[in-house]
Amino acid sequence: MPHQQSTTATTEHLVIVGNGMAGHRLVEALLARAERPSHITVIGAEAAPAYNRILLSPLLAGEMEREALTLRNAEWYAEQGIELVLGERVETIDRTARRLTTDTGRELGYDHLVLATGSNPARPPVPGLDLPGVHVFRDLNDAEALASAAEQGGNAVVIGGGLLGLEAAEGLRKRGMQVSLLQRAERLMNRQLDLTAARLLENELRHRGLDIHTGAQVERLEADARGHVCAVHLADGTRLAADCVVLAIGIVPNVELGRVAGLSVNRGIVVDVWLTTSDPAIHALGECCEFEDRTYGLVEPIWHQVDVLADRLCLDHDHADAEPAQGYVEQPTATKLKVSGISLYAFGPTDPEPGGHEVLSYRDPQQGDYRRLLLRDGRLEGAVLYGDTASGPWYFEQALAGRDLTPCRSALLLGASDAQLLLDDALNESPQRPAKEAA
Ligand SMILES: Cc1cc2nc3c(=O)[nH]c(=O)nc-3n(C[C@H](O)[C@H](O)[C@H](O)COP(=O)(O)OP(=O)(O)OC[C@H]3O[C@@H](n4cnc5c(N)ncnc54)[C@H](O)[C@@H]3O)c2cc1C
Repeated sequence: MPHQQSTTATTEHLVIVGNGMAGHRLVEALLARAERPSHITVIGAEAAPAYNRILLSPLLAGEMEREALTLRNAEWYAEQGIELVLGERVETIDRTARRLTTDTGRELGYDHLVLATGSNPARPPVPGLDLPGVHVFRDLNDAEALASAAEQGGNAVVIGGGLLGLEAAEGLRKRGMQVSLLQRAERLMNRQLDLTAARLLENELRHRGLDIHTGAQVERLEADARGHVCAVHLADGTRLAADCVVLAIGIVPNVELGRVAGLSVNRGIVVDVWLTTSDPAIHALGECCEFEDRTYGLVEPIWHQVDVLADRLCLDHDHADAEPAQGYVEQPTATKLKVSGISLYAFGPTDPEPGGHEVLSYRDPQQGDYRRLLLRDGRLEGAVLYGDTASGPWYFEQALAGRDLTPCRSALLLGASDAQLLLDDALNESPQRPAKEAA
């Protein structure tokens, strides 16, 4: 039975392509608004209804059950009166007729279309990457394939020392494999961590048993007599035995559908502040879109996109020139690593700008704590925390607010509560300089 709720729904048909994290979040956001389109169809290529992709890492590590990942099941969609089509891939869009076709031949008309097709793992032109035994780590099927490969034991080689590669490597190690991790840069998570934090992380992971190679250039993969991958060769002549290889060097926006539909496509499907593509009837959001030359790989900015697009789609269509209050605005994001027993929190530049940033740092080798803050004119622009990361969100909040932290400078490295006390004292004594005030 469709969910009965009083709405002033428009009679338009909205089709959402992709039942991943962005597509599903959009559905939840639309349901929370009164003037949503009356007819919503969601089409997802994966067989499973929307699940929390972020939790694939703890699932692979054996720390979570499969069921715990599900966001909403098919019954819930039916109860909300939303048509859910799973296991079908949209292949073509006829923009003139406003119709799309799936790989089963299903045809569907739309008034508004949202592309939320995510991204695909990047594949460098390395010989042997198409061999059996080479995996990616993107969806439930990948996680399940990796878990069953790990049941055979043996050696795994993970290519990529960013967030995803580290989480995959730890997951496979926990499942009993001997894991080598290859990172092309000189340090792990080089986009998020400074050298000190990266070394602390590397030492901890080595201590757990990971074999880490930084500055590693993969030359080719070797096949055994069965044609299955059996080794990875590096440019320096190193040969690493491999029963299983995981490719985790980055992602590429999944723009195929946008491209065949003739939308404006760069690295991602190009959208404006309202998440509208070059066709006013088609929107794109999440990892498949590109906004002001940026593409996405974390959920935080995608949640902001969802709010903007949900407002946009729920506009009162009798007043077509009405616009939602605010379009999408890019915001900085913070990074956390989901490897149990290791706490990391980072945002902003990894290296100080010479002459631009003042660096404050603190290290307690016994506790394994490290904090490094980058300040410009008393305002926080970047932080790397390793070990005790409890104050991370507070630092991030101060950076977003552009707050002048000069009054609490002496306590800044001690963490949020000490620093906030000094800030409060200073505020009580004299009004604080306004945020973002020119230095
Ligand atoms: C293992 C892992 C761990 C992660 N950890 C974190 C983390 O800790 N923090 C964080 O912020 N982010 C994390 N991410 C990234 C996060 O999951 C993504 O940013 C988010 O899922 C992007 O949402 P999306 O909807 O754009 O793409 P997706 O969630 O990938 O959804 C896209 C969906 O569209 C479907 N699709 C594609 N083409 C078609 C088509 N033609 N027809 C129909 N359906 C189609 C796909 O099958 C897929 O289901 C992680 C990702 C992975 C893989």
